[in-house]
Amino acid sequence: MIYFDNNATTQVAPEVVAEMLPYFSELYGNPSAGYRFARESKKAIDLARDRVAALLGADPSEIVFTSCGTESNNAAVASALRVFPERKHLVTSAVEHSAILKYCASLEDLGYETTIVPVDSGGRIDLDELRAAIRPEETALVSLMWANNETGVLSPVAEAAEIAAEMGVLFHTDAVNAMGKVPIDAPACGAHFLSLSGHKFHAPKGVGALYVKSGVRFRPLLIGGGQEDQRRAGTEAVAQLAGLGKAAELARHALLDWQSVRHLRDDFEQKLLSAVDRVELNGSPVHRLPNTTHASFEGVDAGDLLVLMDEAELCCSSGSACSTGAVKPSHVMLAMGHSEARAKSSLRFSVSRYNTAAEVDTAVEIVAAAVAKLRALRPGGSGPVVRAGNRS
Ligand code: PLP
Repeated sequence: MIYFDNNATTQVAPEVVAEMLPYFSELYGNPSAGYRFARESKKAIDLARDRVAALLGADPSEIVFTSCGTESNNAAVASALRVFPERKHLVTSAVEHSAILKYCASLEDLGYETTIVPVDSGGRIDLDELRAAIRPEETALVSLMWANNETGVLSPVAEAAEIAAEMGVLFHTDAVNAMGKVPIDAPACGAHFLSLSGHKFHAPKGVGALYVKSGVRFRPLLIGGGQEDQRRAGTEAVAQLAGLGKAAELARHALLDWQSVRHLRDDFEQKLLSAVDRVELNGSPVHRLPNTTHASFEGVDAGDLLVLMDEAELCCSSGSACSTGAVKPSHVMLAMGHSEARAKSSLRFSVSRYNTAAEVDTAVEIVAAAVAKLRALRPGGSGPVVRAGNRS
């Protein structure tokens, strides 16, 4: 099997598995308990906090552990609204993950309004449009993702944070798909909140964190026990946190070698473009993650293509979500001004440090053969969709 779907989730690093194992077996103490046995769990969480903070250039006290990226995103929005109860307006972009877009939409019936800033054909917002969308004294939060999970396009986060600060508005960035792939200095980027999720950078699923800038008032989403310094109730997932910390430590070192991942991705793209005709790459070629390729194959249905990829054991994603049997074109592709047809003919390939040059060559052969087969079957264009992949 070739795994080219690292924006959906990643292989848990073997070092991470090793770090977690004792907390699944002998070291099961509740970190809140007072005896020495439980202090081992507490120590593991403290170490994880130090390591995640170090990856972000943050202070450990600025890290609030959560159960996932979705929770981190929801918590940032919810906190801003509770800290500024008189502010009923949010600003975000058209290409955000559903953990922001759907959460904001869900607040409409509670009287909140969200302005969605459009993106250009490269997938990036216009900063003047962002400025125009913010309403001083009314906007509680601006939320802009660091990197888009589908296209890999990077947002102008620092510039947007500066605009929000000038206008007296809190700023959140969803860095879930950027973490471990590009250097991130949370204090330097100017964000008040920053979300991350372990399973996107070789830690397990079901663990995440929210950076909350020191001095920023925070109101918790989950209320109950006093864990996380009163900022997130719930007994900590000690093993997963230990894994998250180890993955953060590994990511700090791996980032020094991200050129090799970029090289793999660039090699894949270049070979793909010469092996297959009528392929278009999507998203800004300049401002994007070093591991992601998002490509449209003219006249080919992504759902059909994914069936053939699966048969050939190449894991990748379509840019379309499948709901009740109907394939919906990706909101990201539509927001970039692409047609439904182009959106539905797109695949995302995302590599990691565990991929190899040999896999790149085989993957190109698999994609080229599948596209040729489907084009020969339906020379006039795409037919009914067989199945579509998941988007996350
Ligand atoms: N934000 C982005 C950009 C993502 O790619 C994802 C992953 O699917 C999420 C948020 C949600 O993260 P999680 O799966 O940890 O809830």
